[in-house]
Amino acid sequence: MAQVKLTNLNKKFDGTHAVKDVNLEIRDREFVVLVGPSGCGKTTTLRMVAGLEEISSGDISIDGKVVNNLAPMDRDIAMVFQNYALYPHMTVYDNMAFGLRMRKFERPEIDRRVTHAADVLGIQPLLERRPRQLSGGQRQRVALGRAIVRNPRVFLFDEPLSNLDAALRVQMRVELKRLHERLETTAIYVTHDQVEAMTLGDRVVVMKDGTVQQVGGPLELYDRPANRFVAGFIGSPAMNFIGATLAEANGSLWAEAQGLRVRVPPQKAERLRRHAGQRVVMGLRPETLRPATAADSDYAFDATIDVVEPLGSEILLDVRVGDSPVVARVDPGLRFSARERVRLAFDPARVHFFDATSEAAI
Ligand code: ATP
Repeated sequence: MAQVKLTNLNKKFDGTHAVKDVNLEIRDREFVVLVGPSGCGKTTTLRMVAGLEEISSGDISIDGKVVNNLAPMDRDIAMVFQNYALYPHMTVYDNMAFGLRMRKFERPEIDRRVTHAADVLGIQPLLERRPRQLSGGQRQRVALGRAIVRNPRVFLFDEPLSNLDAALRVQMRVELKRLHERLETTAIYVTHDQVEAMTLGDRVVVMKDGTVQQVGGPLELYDRPANRFVAGFIGSPAMNFIGATLAEANGSLWAEAQGLRVRVPPQKAERLRRHAGQRVVMGLRPETLRPATAADSDYAFDATIDVVEPLGSEILLDVRVGDSPVVARVDPGLRFSARERVRLAFDPARVHFFDATSEAAI
């Protein structure tokens, strides 16, 4: 049981302002994922929560109590790292029991906790092995086990799956989600992988250059990104961005770019009208594009196909609209070839617009 609150949290290394005024409230039993590109400050934030990194300014509190000056050991937090950090000369059992022995737990209690964690993780048969006799996935389970036996108030995960191969990563991702549902412990998880963030997080915190860009549920970030950075970071293939100018004509608002003139859907036009005459950035997700029919006239544009990527479950069309590259994700039953002209339509309810200067969603 634990709520974690970060208030105006800052970290400055010599010359680098790594974490800038981060404010975040993590609810009891919530699974929150910090995601962002390399160097955005997510690991530093996590390490400050763990007590492994000193805070430059701001507060971290757990259940209403400021823990800024509490040693890592006294914060009742368990951290799982990317590089497992298992003791090579100890058995799996001893690796899991080590922290409890250091904390002077009685032997029967240690045994009960290690057995329980091994059960939860399905590693009972491995308890007498040493780390070098385990696969990567098994080692990661032991590292998780070592955190679970502590029965902490908060779990912290720093890219725990990034040393695993792609298939195992997917499997462990599902296991972690199941584990969290079972353990019901507050968790903060750091990753640069947006798919991992979306599948694991109750809420996802998108970071860039030390600042929080947006906090929200996975679908909220996907459907209503606060700015161009979040829009481009969440979703794969990434959202297409086309620079355009807004113009009023015949009582409607239009977005115009080289080789493209599309209507701004009425539900958005009201808000966007005050940007008439200005440069904006239009955002279209690849999955909202499809070959146009005659009915799509206002919400369609012509494109030239550069590359066709048949992936089996879908086809990715790399096209050019004027001089903008655009990716469309279309039905695998359709047939296309390079250099072909194609007319693409988009779902007007799912088009995004961003201010060309501030990059905020408008
Ligand atoms: P990654 O995914 O690559 O680990 P990250 O988002 O976790 O990236 P951090 O490790 O938190 O990023 O680093 C944030 C910034 O702080 C980076 O610019 C990094 O170079 C800098 N930084 C991190 N640790 C130190 C340190 N001990 N001394 C100086 N600068 C540091």
